[in-house]
Amino acid sequence: MLETSKTLFERAQQSIPGGVNSPARAFNSVGGAPVFLEQARGSVLTDVDGKEYIDYVGSWGPMILGHAYGPVIEAVQEAAAKSTSFGAPTEIEVKMAELVKQMAPGVDKIRMVNSGTEACMSAIRVARGYTGRDKVIKFEGNYHGHGDSFLINAGSGALTLGTPSSPGVTEGTAKDTLTADFNDLNSVKKLLNEYKGEVAAIIVEPVAGNMGCIPPQKGFLAGLRELCDAQDTVLVFDEVMTGFRVAQGGAQQRFGVTADIVTYGKIIGAGLPVGAFGGSREIMQVVSPDGPVYQAGTLSGNPLAMAAGYALLSELYENPVHYDELEEKTTYLFRGMKEVFEHHEVSATINRVGSMMSVFFTREEVRDFQTAQTTNRELFRDFFHGMLTNGVYLPPSPFESWFLANSHTEAMLDETITAADTAIADAINS
Ligand SMILES: *Cc1c(COP(=O)(O)O)cnc(C)c1O
Repeated sequence: MLETSKTLFERAQQSIPGGVNSPARAFNSVGGAPVFLEQARGSVLTDVDGKEYIDYVGSWGPMILGHAYGPVIEAVQEAAAKSTSFGAPTEIEVKMAELVKQMAPGVDKIRMVNSGTEACMSAIRVARGYTGRDKVIKFEGNYHGHGDSFLINAGSGALTLGTPSSPGVTEGTAKDTLTADFNDLNSVKKLLNEYKGEVAAIIVEPVAGNMGCIPPQKGFLAGLRELCDAQDTVLVFDEVMTGFRVAQGGAQQRFGVTADIVTYGKIIGAGLPVGAFGGSREIMQVVSPDGPVYQAGTLSGNPLAMAAGYALLSELYENPVHYDELEEKTTYLFRGMKEVFEHHEVSATINRVGSMMSVFFTREEVRDFQTAQTTNRELFRDFFHGMLTNGVYLPPSPFESWFLANSHTEAMLDETITAADTAIADAINS
């Protein structure tokens, strides 16, 4: 029997929760059944039904130079032939750590893990071990993976302590996570005053990417740096999405603010399962086996994953022109989309930082979780499906960033803008 996305999704739902191995892939917020993919080259995806799409998900970030990028494929094949894992040290781990140190500001030492989630969980444990404090401040609408400490809603009313946002997270964990508003330093000051000397870390996505793309306002990141310095609180930049994307040295470089601990994921593994956390010598010396903060992983620093990541990062390091080209291409798409929405008199706020962008169907400036919520979800749903029909694969949610790759050609961007013109016309007439 010839499998199609439809038949595969039916089978998947019998054996996998929701038919997917990560909820962001399901089409829950746009409706319909997800597309099952067969292969991809550069910025073109092919699904199991043989239909092609221009890709703006890029595996949620890693494919910054496109799918099946030659040097990455070769590096993985070469490494695989020597063994897929040793559970003992290898040279590629040393080369990888040295390369990241050259690219990332403020990183003296770096530990490899297997996902962004693991990197953020470990970063928080290290900050707690280093400071001897328990509480952590995060921002509403920021995402740091599915670790217990991060699945916490802001307290309501006078209550500043958090409550679990998922069953299975205990009240005990929730009480140590405090939630502030993105781009609002006063909300952070309030928490730091109330819990003076108790806050181990502030963790932030320096460019929010998981409630749609929201840039930090001028002075926000520098303000966090000052507040952390004043209370010896560890500043953690979650650069799982922005690392090696918004600049060679990530958001730290782009905005000129250095964190104490940085977490990476996505691009660092070039599509293989990799995360990492790094920081100053002083902080990283608490990590086992140098220090008492336990952290480990059987497959951490896996030779295939390191080979892939090293191949991609060295290309980005040696040819920084990729970043200029990405900036140009994303600006081109931004302008084209803006014209399309203006032409159809649709209220849209398009946010962009480097090669991350997203469209909010709202009149408001989108600068935090609350303003992101003002987007017209029904319009996004119709627009999304129109784009899909017209051969453009956008993230299936109004609250995700689109990722450009340097494999996007001008012709593809023009095709995308034309598709948007059709999709938005159909959406407002439906
Ligand atoms: C994707 C993401 C994570 C989680 O990474 P996983 O590899 O999915 O566990 C954490 N933080 C940010 C900012 C992310 O975008």
